[in-house]
Amino acid sequence: MGKDRYRRQILVKQFGLKGQKQLASKHAVLIGGGGLGSNSANILIRMGIGSIDIIDYDTIDRTNLHRTSVFSEKDIGKYKAIVLKERLQSVNTDVQVKAINKKITSKNIDSLLIHADVIVDGTDNIPLRLLINTIAIQQNIPWVYAGVYETVGMVMAILPKKTACFHCITQNIPIPKSKEIPVLGSLPATIAAIQCNETIKVLLGKQPAGLLIYDVWNQCFDKLDIQRNPNCPICGK
Ligand SMILES: [Zn+2]
Repeated sequence: MGKDRYRRQILVKQFGLKGQKQLASKHAVLIGGGGLGSNSANILIRMGIGSIDIIDYDTIDRTNLHRTSVFSEKDIGKYKAIVLKERLQSVNTDVQVKAINKKITSKNIDSLLIHADVIVDGTDNIPLRLLINTIAIQQNIPWVYAGVYETVGMVMAILPKKTACFHCITQNIPIPKSKEIPVLGSLPATIAAIQCNETIKVLLGKQPAGLLIYDVWNQCFDKLDIQRNPNCPICGK
């Protein structure tokens, strides 16, 4: 681990050299390499996560470019996971970056998550998040939900059997009506940064603080302290 690279981060008293070493020992699995996922991968790799698997089966489209800081016009038509690995590995060769060019299904998800210390949500749909949630709770892996819609973003770190799970909070999450989700270009980077803050804190053993909701248009930041639903079919007794 090159300490010089992280000098300014190590100076942060809440984080320090201890935090940097802890982070370097952790493995994240990022599911989805689009607007949210590409920005989150960028941040986690720069901050010095030990290793990260980037799972995505999709290719880069011109309509992706307004909301990511990683892809360029030259990448159009290429696989997101492959481009993210190539681009971000060159940013930090201390991090083991693996591209997994696969669609996550109920059949392969167990094996893809088995070594994760944390799962980072870069998906864009509720059914896949519910699947991630079920497996994360079963395998006792923390995961950090993030979602964006128009000008509103949400982030919540989920600790299995300790905090509310995604199923417990689904009534608080808007279900997109259209297949193509409207999103302001600056929002995914903002929400990805908040998601990475929560991811780092989870990896360093800090207790999460509920569901964060940020409305950039109305400049409004809310934090909902959501309790576990004792009757939740996924995390309840
Ligand atoms: Zn639950």
